[in-house]
Amino acid sequence: MRYLTLEEASVFHGHLGPYLIIGYRAGELARKILNPSNEFDLQAKVTLPLKTPYTCIVDGIQCSTKCTLGKLNIELVDSGSICNIVIEFKRKSSNKTLKLKVRESVIRKLHEITDVNEGARWVKTLSVEDLFEIVMNT
Ligand SMILES: [Zn+2]
Repeated sequence: MRYLTLEEASVFHGHLGPYLIIGYRAGELARKILNPSNEFDLQAKVTLPLKTPYTCIVDGIQCSTKCTLGKLNIELVDSGSICNIVIEFKRKSSNKTLKLKVRESVIRKLHEITDVNEGARWVKTLSVEDLFEIVMNT
């Protein structure tokens, strides 16, 4: 099964911003750890402030996981706070789960970087460990 590249995700989304990259990388990690067997196998629940640019994360996740609004295998929950950006994945066929929290320090740093391209460049330099805290992996 082929997935969209980050470049293709940016065409879908309209720009290559830091939050798109964060979502894309979260999905990539979920694919690597949970290894879904088809486009329906993963279920995502994304808890975040329901406003841009944070919601750009959702498009990154959709593009890298095939968890999409159209297939109803992605759900959004408004956290109302940048301190609480959590992405939960479940592989339905095996009941395996992965829960990631976007590090608050990453969001705070992005608030200081006003240029989108510069923010994207900076996020690309970060490892998955820099980006996410793995809260749970069962
Ligand atoms: Zn965006």
